[in-house]
Amino acid sequence: MVQNNDYIGFNKPYLTGQEQEFIADAVRLKKLSGNGKYTILCQQFFEQNFGFKKCLLTTSCTDALEMCALLLNIQLGDEVIMPSYTFVSTANAFVLRGAKIVFCDSNLVNPNIDSGQIERLITSKTKAIVVVHYAGVACDMDNVMSIANRHNLFVVEDAAQAIDSYYKDRPLGSIGHLATFSFHETKNISSGEGGMLVINDTQFINRAEILWEKGTNRVAFFKGQVDKYNWVDIGSSYLPSEITAAFLYAQIIAMEDIQSKRKKIWHMYFEHLSEWATFNKIRLPQIPVYATNNAHMFYLVCSSPAHRTEIINSLQNDGIMAVFHYLSLHNSPFYIEKHDNRVLKESDNLSSTLIRLPMFYDLSETQITKIIKSLTTIRLSIN
Ligand SMILES: *Cc1c(COP(=O)(O)O)cnc(C)c1O
Repeated sequence: MVQNNDYIGFNKPYLTGQEQEFIADAVRLKKLSGNGKYTILCQQFFEQNFGFKKCLLTTSCTDALEMCALLLNIQLGDEVIMPSYTFVSTANAFVLRGAKIVFCDSNLVNPNIDSGQIERLITSKTKAIVVVHYAGVACDMDNVMSIANRHNLFVVEDAAQAIDSYYKDRPLGSIGHLATFSFHETKNISSGEGGMLVINDTQFINRAEILWEKGTNRVAFFKGQVDKYNWVDIGSSYLPSEITAAFLYAQIIAMEDIQSKRKKIWHMYFEHLSEWATFNKIRLPQIPVYATNNAHMFYLVCSSPAHRTEIINSLQNDGIMAVFHYLSLHNSPFYIEKHDNRVLKESDNLSSTLIRLPMFYDLSETQITKIIKSLTTIRLSIN
């Protein structure tokens, strides 16, 4: 279909207006490599506002996840438990270190890991549990942490979508031993590409700083703790440039406004789609009592793949782009042969029935009304 000015895309990056000012300042300072003024401002903001013990900006959430696999010393044959319904990087970061991924199904209420199934997947080779707070909605963290403690396992929170969201009164990203965030263009707070590693278990801080700086003790050198810097460990180049950090800082200080606007959009969808959804056996997102909603995403779960196709096509005909999401990783061309044949029914169901609606700061009330009207006038075939 022809995309005219009325076309409503799935995502549109938001600019606060201060990005260029901070980037210009970073340029003026002539310190454009990583770990300068804006990197430190961003990291301090998160440490102070969310109680994260130590934050390190990275060039992506994928990089931060790779750092987690290095920090946990994942070796060939170690097992890592995680949901199958997630982004490829959650698994790939650990596969790069030789891990065997033991995929767990999603629960019945939302796409998050079914914590009730984790314990039976633990073996003597299990090293870590990686949870993903899908759509920024918390996993059942008390349960996950107590399982981990009982079995002496590490917990990594893939909080890529979960900025400014909470489990009870605890910010997501502050609960696991390690956590990762994404500032990719599609996330609430963005720098185009970008991410962050959070270290809550302080035993990992020193080594994280070394891995971050290509395996050298450069950070300790700049703090005056050693008199020259050396190659001391493995590592890579995980720091973003100051230009990226300056852009990110503009977004961070506008976070309250961004979040409240997104929540308004989310609630408009929820309110106006509830009746239609019930009538058509479509599930809307459910936020468990222990979780908050950071309005990262608004999704629908249809009762059949055919209904999903009908809805996506019908919206497309009205000039609205809605998209599906993950395909179960345990069934992916890369992993299917390595998977242990367990059927993960919920994950597969979500792979074929979940739809995401347009969700971005600049979505106007007129546009939301148009999307709601387009959806609620769809007559789904009976099946
Ligand atoms: C976006 C996302 C990632 C990857 O983030 P990048 O910053 O693009 O590397 C990883 N995990 C989840 C759950 C995500 O949503």
